[in-house]
Amino acid sequence: MDEVVLCAGLQVDRLAELAGDAHAPRIVPFRGEYFALVPEKRSLVNGLVYPVPDPRYPFLGVHLTPRFDGEVLVGPNAVLALAREGYRRRDVSVRELAEIVRYAGFRRFARQHWRTGVAEMRGSLSKRAFTAAAQRYVPELTVADMVPAAAGIRAQALETDGSLVDDFRISRTGAVVAVRNAPSPAATSSLAIAEHIVDTLLGRVADS
Ligand SMILES: Cc1cc2nc3c(=O)[nH]c(=O)nc-3n(C[C@H](O)[C@H](O)[C@H](O)COP(=O)(O)OP(=O)(O)OC[C@H]3O[C@@H](n4cnc5c(N)ncnc54)[C@H](O)[C@@H]3O)c2cc1C
Repeated sequence: MDEVVLCAGLQVDRLAELAGDAHAPRIVPFRGEYFALVPEKRSLVNGLVYPVPDPRYPFLGVHLTPRFDGEVLVGPNAVLALAREGYRRRDVSVRELAEIVRYAGFRRFARQHWRTGVAEMRGSLSKRAFTAAAQRYVPELTVADMVPAAAGIRAQALETDGSLVDDFRISRTGAVVAVRNAPSPAATSSLAIAEHIVDTLLGRVADS
């Protein structure tokens, strides 16, 4: 018999449902925007500068990441993307946006966290606000030190009660295993999790 593992990121809830799995949790896309430091200011950051995580959110908040190529990234924020694959602010899908807003889990989430949402939007629309978030860790940074960099979309699973899923969500329907939430950091390439997925596929793990 053929077996399938669905690791389709932003589309995985749709594929899982097509395979007979539950409707929820649904994937809600959050865009994470970055700036990069101008080369002359890269020496301000000599290592990873990360905040202590806020246990209420799986998003870490703006942090500073020196990359192997010398570039220093500042970000990401987390703003609702207006399309599942809305990597640019102007990417809008009315159909997908309506689907998000119709989802009771999203409406509950929005009611609980609208203040944080507004603060993140501010950081998205104002470079000054984004810089201020980075200045908490590197006070010497100025608005002129940062240039826009690429954005990523986080495929965040949201429960119907409005809570953010903060761990892997692996489910099995017959010969199909779906990975609905693959959070960072670092766990996404964990061999132990790969083994767990294989065990789930082979029926060695009780369905969650
Ligand atoms: C801004 C940002 C920063 C991050 N930083 C980190 C970090 O520092 N460290 C870390 O560990 N993680 C980080 N992550 C998280 C990490 O990127 C994700 O957890 C990881 O990519 C999720 O893996 P995935 O395989 O579930 O999904 P993806 O990597 O999105 O892969 C899904 C794949 O499925 C394909 N696909 C979609 N639909 C279909 C379909 N219908 N049929 C076939 N294929 C399909 C897509 O093309 C894609 O190739 C970050 C994420 C974001 C957004």
